[in-house]
Amino acid sequence: MQPESLANAPTSSAADTPLTNAADAPFSNAANAPTTPADEIESRLNCELQQRIGAANYRNWFQQKVRLTIRDDELTVGVGSPFLLNWMQKQFRGNLVGAAQAVLGPSAVVRFEVSAEPLADSAESAAARTTTLSADPVSPATIESPQGRGASREKQRPARGRRFADFSDFVVGGCNEMAFLAASHVCESPGTLYNPLFIHGGVGLGKTHLLEGIYRKIRRDFPALKTLYFTSESFTNYFMTGLRDHTLPSFRQRFRSVDVLLVDDIGFLDSKPATQQEFLHTLEHLLGRNRQVVVTADRHPRLLTGLCEELSTRFVSGLVCRIEPADLETRMKIVEHKAARTNAVLTKQALQFVASRFQNNVRELEGGLNCLANFHSMTGKPVRRADARRILADLERDCIQAVRIPDVEKAVCNLFGVDPDDLRSAKRQRSLSQPRMLAMYLSRKLVRAAYTEIGSHFGGRNHSTVISAEKKVNGWLEEDRSITVAARSWPLHEVIATLKQQLRVS
Ligand code: ADP
Ligand code: MG
Repeated sequence: MQPESLANAPTSSAADTPLTNAADAPFSNAANAPTTPADEIESRLNCELQQRIGAANYRNWFQQKVRLTIRDDELTVGVGSPFLLNWMQKQFRGNLVGAAQAVLGPSAVVRFEVSAEPLADSAESAAARTTTLSADPVSPATIESPQGRGASREKQRPARGRRFADFSDFVVGGCNEMAFLAASHVCESPGTLYNPLFIHGGVGLGKTHLLEGIYRKIRRDFPALKTLYFTSESFTNYFMTGLRDHTLPSFRQRFRSVDVLLVDDIGFLDSKPATQQEFLHTLEHLLGRNRQVVVTADRHPRLLTGLCEELSTRFVSGLVCRIEPADLETRMKIVEHKAARTNAVLTKQALQFVASRFQNNVRELEGGLNCLANFHSMTGKPVRRADARRILADLERDCIQAVRIPDVEKAVCNLFGVDPDDLRSAKRQRSLSQPRMLAMYLSRKLVRAAYTEIGSHFGGRNHSTVISAEKKVNGWLEEDRSITVAARSWPLHEVIATLKQQLRVS
């Protein structure tokens, strides 16, 4: 849990900048000149990298796909999924270190991380930054990040060139149809029916894409409406800044004067009671005036156990839609759609191969497709099924995620809000025994650990206890039983699906 204090205020990143109607201006070459030392360094780094790895590699792997963040002499490379991280490390670590050292000095270090945030604020959009800001309700020019003043090379002025995903690029299938229809309705008549609209689902399933699509469509169809898009992380940053600088009234005025509020990844407010209260008041203010609010998260509001009761109640008072992992048919449609936007020559069988292999999330699917497109652009040859199989062998291996028993334990404890020591203890009250059985069941299912190993991890229990826990959970699932999470009854299969999704990503 993160203590909520100014000292611990999260880092503001350019991609998190609240973006309003003014934010999505078309890229313009005239605006490309770096305007601050931080921009200049970033721009030099991108040039250096491009020179080292070549334009095709740069386009396929970095542009609009990877977030590069510079802080002092550390370069952080944020990628969209664990296997991409692995791949990027293998392919580009040397060049990244070289580029960082050339620009930041010999002590430069490179760090890789998986970033669940949208990666749209890429090197390219960094180059497309401009300084002009207009009628933003929350203008990045007037609100600094909490650590903005002291930061040396860190980006101090947020980006404006972010390219938002489009509704028309969102492929609809059974897995996301309800969320898509609800989002379409919101775009047609904001603030009338599904309000708030809460969209949840695992990482890489298209929540941010849909939210950005809403942003663009409303902006286009209702230019007079003030539409504000931001992540809950940036809300937290701005709130902290407001507290620190005694500018809360103007902060509130700005956030509460919008017509459409789009908030990505509300889970970031987990265990931040003061920010939650502030957000709750913003929400009530807007909903009370029939202003449209759309929120995304990685799980159902009732399963966001670090959120206050009032907030989750507010969220469920509107429409809650879940996005499921895509089925094969939808994955194929997505792959075809995305492949059509590249110049690569890929056979249908090669695309089918990608769609059948990458099942966890769409980001992985994109990663697979990028590999094939990259192969094509380097060799000029059409990519057939056999090529795809060979090229993707590495990636596939990396996709098999090594979930360990402690990962399961952590996810279960997080969700149920219980202490790991209690989970392993001899205590038998239901609030502990149920999560414990679930943890054992998932350790079997996802880790495929031996009964004895599981038993010994969870408090030195013997293997028959684990077998009986597994049987019990299977029985509950057959009976479609519910389980108590955060003092509420919840369908067990939903709880398990949520845990599985989280473990796949962790
Ligand atoms: P999330 O916010 O749920 O973690 P994103 O919205 O960032 O996921 O999606 C990850 C990537 O997958 C993005 O590039 C997005 O465009 C793509 N994507 C996800 N779902 C779809 C879809 N249904 N159609 C087309 N692209 C999709
Ligand atoms: Mg997202």
